[in-house]
Amino acid sequence: MNLQAFSLPLRNRFRGITVREGVLFAGPAGWAEWSPFYDYDYPEIGHWWRAAWEAAYLGFPAPIRDQVPVNATVPAIGAEAAHRLVAASGCRTAKVKVAEPGQTLADDLDRVEAVRAALGPQGRVRVDANGAWDVDDAQRRLTALARFDLEYAEQPCATAEELAELRVRLARAGVQVPIAADESIRRSGDPERVVALAAADIAVLKVQPLGGVRRCLELAERLGLPVVVSSALESSVGLAAGVALAAALPELPYACGLNTATMFTADVSDDPLVAVDGMISVRPVTPQGTTWQADPATQRRWQDRWSVMPDELRRNGE
Ligand SMILES: [Mg+2]
Repeated sequence: MNLQAFSLPLRNRFRGITVREGVLFAGPAGWAEWSPFYDYDYPEIGHWWRAAWEAAYLGFPAPIRDQVPVNATVPAIGAEAAHRLVAASGCRTAKVKVAEPGQTLADDLDRVEAVRAALGPQGRVRVDANGAWDVDDAQRRLTALARFDLEYAEQPCATAEELAELRVRLARAGVQVPIAADESIRRSGDPERVVALAAADIAVLKVQPLGGVRRCLELAERLGLPVVVSSALESSVGLAAGVALAAALPELPYACGLNTATMFTADVSDDPLVAVDGMISVRPVTPQGTTWQADPATQRRWQDRWSVMPDELRRNGE
């Protein structure tokens, strides 16, 4: 298997990293990306490999739409910068990071207010707390943030049990903020628990951690919840798999978190998979040139990570 490591600089630190790395390779069905974050090990990285194997050897299910709507992503930046970012994005939906360590509720309120102002009343504003709050905190903060008419709050608390309790409390208090599960779906090992506990209104699905487009389509059907497809900060080659999932879902009521190629200063293609007027086209991406290729040490590191997985999985994606 000819794995070529890539290294893409980020505009802003994200998830504690400043450079995104992974590998690309080509199979009979097209180009594929394998890019589990460095803090993931086997067996978790095996799910990411199944997704890459699918892209290279099976390709993607037939699309039922040729464009997918996407959201702008607003990091934990100041209100003015957030306003500028959203206004320049061309997107009608924005996802705003909240609950950043070291910041206060006032910071979150200022940022969300600025984003709502940039989008106007017709725009959609969602927030993502990445599981940072306990139930009391989440109830208090979402009650305050609800004045900006939130589309939903993504993973306000860490566990599915907490999300379930939060939903009951918000409903009782008449606070209308739907809850989306992200980490509870892809890292809990038991995505169906979210449904069993009535812990969420929406499921966030990511192709690599969940083992591929087909597995995500099956999971979406089992969950019976509306789905938001998001990226794992892939290069444009990996993003194409997320776009393929969004294009194949029977229903797509929400904008997807797939416009993340805008977070890089360079990509693996001169024609990266970025949104125009809030929409990304459904198309394959072929890497071009060599500027994205990683140094020999990074190349070896990825070869080593790949070698850890069982032979059978590496060869057959199972
Ligand atoms: Mg999230």
